Amino acid sequence: MQAEFTIAKSNVGHMDGSSVIGRFGNLMARVFGCWHAELSRPFSRNGRAYRKCLSCGAQRQFNVAKWQMQGTFFYQN
Ligand SMILES: [Zn+2]
Repeated sequence: MQAEFTIAKSNVGHMDGSSVIGRFGNLMARVFGCWHAELSRPFSRNGRAYRKCLSCGAQRQFNVAKWQMQGTFFYQN
């Protein structure tokens, strides 16, 4: 019983303000739309290249040969 109480208390301690605001901002970007202004560097996955929005996490395919993005943004967890 004492151990369960200690674990629950430590979990609450991890809910610091910055992470709550970060999750909230991510949700706001998804609900109200995002300009995808800041994108990560291209990264490859399963033989294809992608770039990821640093604000909302949306991904878009990146054509390495043409060095430009193509297709539409999509979300993948
Ligand atoms: Zn975005």
